[in-house]
Amino acid sequence: MKYIFVTGGVVSSLGKGLTAAALGTLLERRGLKVVMQKLDPYLNIDPGTMSPYQHGEVYVLEDGAETDLDLGHYERFTSSRLSRSNNVTSGQIYEAVLGKERSGAYLGKTVQVIPHVTDEIKSRIRKLSAKYPCDVIITEIGGTTGDIEGLPFLEALRQFSLEVGQGNAMFMHLTLVPYLKAAGELKTKPTQQSIAKLREIGIQPHVLVCRCEQPLSVDIRKKISLFCNVPAEAVIEQMDVAHTIYEVPLMLQKENLDTLVCRQLQLDVKHAEMESWTKFVQQIVFPSKKVRIAVVGKYIEHRDAYKSVYESITHAAAANDTGIELLQVDAEMLEKEGAEALLSKAHGILVPGGFGDRGTEGKISAAGYARTQQIPYLGLCLGMQVAVIEFARGCANLERANSTEFDKDSPHPVISLMESQEQVTHKGGTMRLGAYDCHLQQGTLTQQAYGCDAISERHRHRYEFNNDYRDTLTSCGMVLSGTSPDGSLVEIIELRDHPWFVACQFHPEFQSKPTAAHPLFDSFIKASVAKASHSVL
Ligand code: GLN
Repeated sequence: MKYIFVTGGVVSSLGKGLTAAALGTLLERRGLKVVMQKLDPYLNIDPGTMSPYQHGEVYVLEDGAETDLDLGHYERFTSSRLSRSNNVTSGQIYEAVLGKERSGAYLGKTVQVIPHVTDEIKSRIRKLSAKYPCDVIITEIGGTTGDIEGLPFLEALRQFSLEVGQGNAMFMHLTLVPYLKAAGELKTKPTQQSIAKLREIGIQPHVLVCRCEQPLSVDIRKKISLFCNVPAEAVIEQMDVAHTIYEVPLMLQKENLDTLVCRQLQLDVKHAEMESWTKFVQQIVFPSKKVRIAVVGKYIEHRDAYKSVYESITHAAAANDTGIELLQVDAEMLEKEGAEALLSKAHGILVPGGFGDRGTEGKISAAGYARTQQIPYLGLCLGMQVAVIEFARGCANLERANSTEFDKDSPHPVISLMESQEQVTHKGGTMRLGAYDCHLQQGTLTQQAYGCDAISERHRHRYEFNNDYRDTLTSCGMVLSGTSPDGSLVEIIELRDHPWFVACQFHPEFQSKPTAAHPLFDSFIKASVAKASHSVL
């Protein structure tokens, strides 16, 4: 088995996860079996308790692990199997080490960062290779070189690469080569310094991926090569993409990244076949029509907070040969300015997941506007809950209907806490998490969209549709189009007297793939295209 370690220097947000995932795409298309992993140096056990402002979206895996959003890139760009063991944090490492210490496993020794913490880190990479046998494991290390908390990880990887021997492990380092306008040139000093930091720890990267806004000239490549001790051909240019992140694998292929990696790891494999990927990118870049989709959320100014939702929209748009004009609507603004002012131009309205009551009334009015104006609506998790609340208020005359998350004393708690959640006090990892089966009702829009009767989708929530209101709401025109297999939980609702209004308690956005758009997103975009064709653009 071969190992690729991906590190980043100079600044955060260089797109390490994306680059690692794009390398995964290229290697898979060379016929290799790839597994992706992320090591996060922060002390949280997982990002589940972090605010989207801090961390962006929490990406949920099939087994219920709440993980870093880079794992979303991994699932979208590769077919790597991902589970709890693919996202390791310092918190988990220390928890394990301290647990062993308390149980006496260290036999009287002083417990130290080297070797105990570093051994634990190495064991997580080994366990993954035992669990998912493959040709290559790509392990990305979060944070930036020079961070104190990242040091044990880098030290562990240095040791690991020595243990597996030359030709079996390599380091790829992402760096920033900024363009200074005043000087009129690209600057290599930050890159030199970040490599110096790595070499101080004993790591000599084999490939440098240089993020830049201007192309790297031959001279700049030579300079970086000389100062950073890598061959000039291993200095890879990665300019900002012009249109879509899905161009990244194609750009890296042009720079021969995958060829270099295969040579370094002594992998004799065929050329990467990128035809279908190129076609997908062209569909995104040159669509034949356009629809306007409003996404109504609380963290709207923070793009990473709804990452998988936006990606799923992109996949479905490409599948329908349409471009998307995204209206990012702040739910609190909607409360002030009203739905008509902010949503009247939308051909489709999407309300994603969320927590807490800030902006909720805005989301409820968005669902109401979609319902009354016959605009296609897709509600995801909280987006379903607000649709149920709105319908209860607007169609079933249930005044002050609400979720008990937002109004404990609502006379009509149409959304309420699951029984299993009532005793829960700890916040971390205690929601209804991960994949659950769902049974679809014959003849519904949902069932048509999926084209089957049984599905499995990922969850992350505490509250549920309150079964006491099933009869009242269905008698007013709500259709329960998906339930848990035993019928006890409402998983999907739709509206009878509406062209396309579907909302689900789960998060379909975690299962959409670039060339296999999620059925609900696909169907939502189709309905929005139909709406657009009836309105003047
Ligand atoms: N806050 C809601 C709940 O916990 C919805 C969660 C979500 O949208 N992910 O049930």
